[in-house]
Amino acid sequence: MWALEWEGQFLVVDAGLMFPQEDMLGIDLVLPDISYLLEGGRKVLGIFLSHGHEDHIGGLPYALKKLNVPVYGTRLTLGLVKPKLKEHRILREADLREVRVGDSVQLGPFRVETVAVCHSIPDAVALAIQTPVGRVLHQRFQARPRSSRRPPDRHGALPPPG
Ligand SMILES: [Zn+2]
Repeated sequence: MWALEWEGQFLVVDAGLMFPQEDMLGIDLVLPDISYLLEGGRKVLGIFLSHGHEDHIGGLPYALKKLNVPVYGTRLTLGLVKPKLKEHRILREADLREVRVGDSVQLGPFRVETVAVCHSIPDAVALAIQTPVGRVLHQRFQARPRSSRRPPDRHGALPPPG
């Protein structure tokens, strides 16, 4: 989970989970701590999902139970999210908003554009986020795998992942 803040307004990207490591005896799941986002005076505008891997969407049901905000994602990503929300009995009240590659969504002071990238799951996107003070690129994976014959990403100018 990653968050961008501007004057008390937050854009959250991804809500994953981690599986416990050897020294975490008795722990089933490691979830993001969203208590900071729940503090008074803070407004979360939405959660943008970059792709459907568990370490990016697995914590979403737990986050939405405390913070029911719109969730943006591509079709496959939301398709993977729905059974999880159903299992947690929160699918009906969830506000899922499908986006396509190249779409731009304005969320308060943030304008989020989805950018096609190659990843080991289809329908993955990087996010180019225009803020009042500049542009932020959220990209958690290799934009252009070295050993791939797939066509290059639409945005060939993306920097390598950090
Ligand atoms: Zn992934």
